[in-house]
Amino acid sequence: MRIVFVSTSVGAIGSGIGGGVELTLRTLADGLVTLGHEVTVVAPRGSRLEGHRVIDVDGTLHVPSQTIERSAPLEVPTDSVLTRMWDEAMRMAGAGSCDVVLNFAYDVLPFERAESSPVPVAHLVSMGSLSDEMDKAVIGAIRSRSVSVAMHTQAQAESFGSDVAARATIVASGIDLEKYHFIAQPGDDLAFVGRISPEKGIDDVFAVAEQSGRRVLAFGVMEDALAWQDASSRHQGARVEHQGFLPTRELQERLGRCAALIMVHRWVEAFGNVAIEALACGVPVITYDRGGPAEIVRDGVTGYVVRADDPAAVCDAVSRLGTIDRRACRSDAETRFSAVSFVRRVEQWLGRVVGAAAS
Ligand code: UDP
Repeated sequence: MRIVFVSTSVGAIGSGIGGGVELTLRTLADGLVTLGHEVTVVAPRGSRLEGHRVIDVDGTLHVPSQTIERSAPLEVPTDSVLTRMWDEAMRMAGAGSCDVVLNFAYDVLPFERAESSPVPVAHLVSMGSLSDEMDKAVIGAIRSRSVSVAMHTQAQAESFGSDVAARATIVASGIDLEKYHFIAQPGDDLAFVGRISPEKGIDDVFAVAEQSGRRVLAFGVMEDALAWQDASSRHQGARVEHQGFLPTRELQERLGRCAALIMVHRWVEAFGNVAIEALACGVPVITYDRGGPAEIVRDGVTGYVVRADDPAAVCDAVSRLGTIDRRACRSDAETRFSAVSFVRRVEQWLGRVVGAAAS
């Protein structure tokens, strides 16, 4: 297949602002090319994606949907990079130079453009339900062409309601396991990995650090410095140290030396790539029972799934880490979350999208 990827419009690939989408897009581009497909990536200017054909596009970045009120319209800024990326993708589709367009942006515009596209459009939805407008677009696509919508987890699909839960294709996620090295003997630190933001639960990260007495290393883009300051002033006994946004090579090395990854998110996490990255290093994951991570972690085997919004339950799980075998974490990642199997699932899904349009 000749596939055009249209990236997220919230930031350049490599900036970290796009969150898990950036890693997912990279993994799929590498994997689909290895399987013999042709991939062209349309992405905001400044994107870094070594080894691939990237068409970078100028324009104003979009405000991430998680920072907008549910009922507010998803605004298209003047000179929107998303509009321009889709102009480019549709130009390629119109010229007959691709068989399918794969949408990575969490926005309504790609769903609208799909209606008049000369080639089928497949939507890989990256977040759970956050906006009324987006719900409408996803549910509309599921009803008119259900094959065109894929989600990462069942919990994510359920957040959009029963039609989506029953009909969306679930592709999970996967990583190139060779890039993550197993570390048998960790130190005492806990890790938090993700954008520093309220929905990722930065306040509860500080609460866990304070109550457990453990140091927490926080890796990721400082998206909301005010939320960090608030949390730090509320939990003055907490030792949480921001490490910045690191490339995968360094991230996995530092993460691998931690005793556990904590996931204390407030929103329905669609998947949580960081969970499988931790497991691949042999790091157990302690997660709130909410969204994708609760489908990833095997309670008592590769970490613990605890009651949501309960930092004390996370601390209790920390005290039980001794019974988790770090090798079991690595082998679970190998069995369930390899890039190869993820790429195959997406390849099959795209094949079905193209096939449905032809029939
Ligand atoms: N990440 C990274 N370096 C860091 C911190 C995070 O590369 O220092 C990446 C991480 O590998 C993961 C992404 O940021 O792919 C976060 O994705 P996730 O799916 O966990 O959450 P999202 O931000 O998409 O909600």
